[in-house]
Amino acid sequence: MHIPQTELHRHLDASFRTRTLLELCQELGIEGQGTSLAAFESKVLLKQPMRSLGEVLEKFALFQKVFHRPEVLRRLAFECVEDVAAERTQAVEFRYAPSFVAEVHDLDWDACLQAIQAGLAEGVERNPGVDVGLICITTRDYGPEEAAKVADFYLDNLDAFVGFDLAGNEVGFPCRVFEQPLQRLLRSDDRRVNVTVHAGEAAGADNVWEAIELLGAKRIGHGLRSIDDPKLMELLRERDICLEICPTSNWICRCIDVLEAHPIKRLIEAGVPVSINTDDPGLFGNTLADEFAICREVIGMSEAQMQTCFASAHRARFSGRDETGA
Ligand SMILES: [Zn+2]
Repeated sequence: MHIPQTELHRHLDASFRTRTLLELCQELGIEGQGTSLAAFESKVLLKQPMRSLGEVLEKFALFQKVFHRPEVLRRLAFECVEDVAAERTQAVEFRYAPSFVAEVHDLDWDACLQAIQAGLAEGVERNPGVDVGLICITTRDYGPEEAAKVADFYLDNLDAFVGFDLAGNEVGFPCRVFEQPLQRLLRSDDRRVNVTVHAGEAAGADNVWEAIELLGAKRIGHGLRSIDDPKLMELLRERDICLEICPTSNWICRCIDVLEAHPIKRLIEAGVPVSINTDDPGLFGNTLADEFAICREVIGMSEAQMQTCFASAHRARFSGRDETGA
């Protein structure tokens, strides 16, 4: 049986085509007119493990600078759908952080969301084979008060979103810090409320436990450190909580020393549901096909293991839950 190619973890606001980003930077005078695409690529893309967190934050700051009006988000969203269609993806869930995209130029959150929705709709119109969902992110680094604000925005726009994500610095901000600020969301009995949490990426298995037990996560972003905790792996297996694994990102962000040592294969062998994703194509210059190739050729996953991942990803999507009654 053919399983539709599904991607669950792809940050819209970190998925600029380098060519588009250069054009916008030149328009805004951030980059000189003479800069070649190759020179800009070597400046923007991370192709080797990062040397410091600052190196990554600097690139995110550049993404933020070009969000000078909502129209940029419309174009970005449209191009993102075109890109995943070119990768032959049939179901994708993009995610973005309202606080992040609106911050530098003080944009209106509603206007940003409308622009993203318009771009996604336009992309789907041109690529009717792609099923698109959108996840709303709150970034830990903006703090618990901001998280409550983003959760309200999410709950006020449940027709626009398929899920809610807690992302950012998990070492400085464990999940428990957000339990109280997210109460309105956590208490909601609306069936459309779905939570995924970036956890067990930079911090340990404890944070994955907290994501599930305190924040009701139905999926986990990365979750690599689950490999250290057999009881946790049992829970993930029993509750069918899918890990959104992003091999290139995990390597570049130094969560693993070498790609060969990635725990994804061992997680699958332990029966943990796992999906394969790109995370930030605008930062890593990667496609979903690149990630599949890494899993097969570098990590040594078998075809049967790949198929298991594809099935897990498709089953775990938030956007399809209503149709299947899952
Ligand atoms: Zn991510």
